[in-house]
Amino acid sequence: MSTQRPALKFPLRLDRLSSAMALSTHVPARPLLRPQALLQHAAVEAARRIVPSGVGLDSADVRRRMVERLKLTGLRDEAVLGAMAAVPRHQFVDTALVNQAYEDTSLPIGHGQTISKPSIVARMIELLRGGAAALTTGSLGHVLEVGTGCGYQTAILARLSRQVFSVERVRPLYDKARQNLAELRDAQIRLVYGDGTLGHAPNAPYASIIVSAGGDVIAQAWLDQLAPGGRLVAPVRAADNRQTLMVVDKTAGGFRHTNFERVYFVPLRSGLA
Ligand code: SAH
Repeated sequence: MSTQRPALKFPLRLDRLSSAMALSTHVPARPLLRPQALLQHAAVEAARRIVPSGVGLDSADVRRRMVERLKLTGLRDEAVLGAMAAVPRHQFVDTALVNQAYEDTSLPIGHGQTISKPSIVARMIELLRGGAAALTTGSLGHVLEVGTGCGYQTAILARLSRQVFSVERVRPLYDKARQNLAELRDAQIRLVYGDGTLGHAPNAPYASIIVSAGGDVIAQAWLDQLAPGGRLVAPVRAADNRQTLMVVDKTAGGFRHTNFERVYFVPLRSGLA
């Protein structure tokens, strides 16, 4: 009968197979329709799809490629990109996750916390470097970092500042950061086990303050410990309950607040753990 599919006989003969296949594929394939993506989103998506491959994680090439992808997301500050190209992120994540170390993603570091995405680390430090004091000196000067985590961002900051004082409230993470950073032997780094909502008064004032956990407000201690001309960058809960990246500049006329993009950070908590 004419509606029957041609039977395939074994062993198959290629000359017969091709005519049999041609008969059975009479429905033409239609192209998939997709809604148009914004050009900017498409660029970011394209950047995400390029996965590091072919070289060992110790290779500078892997980091260089990560930096190329960061540039596609709009990051421009050469000093920040240079630091991102130098610090071996895979040394800050668990062995089971090293293959993802150079993807633009946050990863678990234990105790319900995460290592931040490379693009957000670079973005926040780029903003920090736009403060008056940093613009004048070309350095972040004395930095207070709240939320050391595994110490990755601390290592990036150390390359762009005079000294970094980094506070962590979770004891095992403080210990882990000590271990991770010991290998880099960076004399500019001082790790502090404490509650970062209180800042770190003994080494204040700071030209730069960077906060890696999302709070409800900007802590008073941070404003008190910010040097004149200094800048603070922190994720803060906005009126609609979502986190926004907030920049605070300490000027001669007082504090100037500017809100930037939406972000998603682990919560800022008080007290020690
Ligand atoms: N800077 C890290 C991000 C770590 S996640 C990086 O390089 O990726 C945020 C960290 O903030 C967590 O380790 C969490 O324990 C810490 N944290 C939250 N509240 C804190 C507080 N009040 N004081 C100090 N650290 C705090």
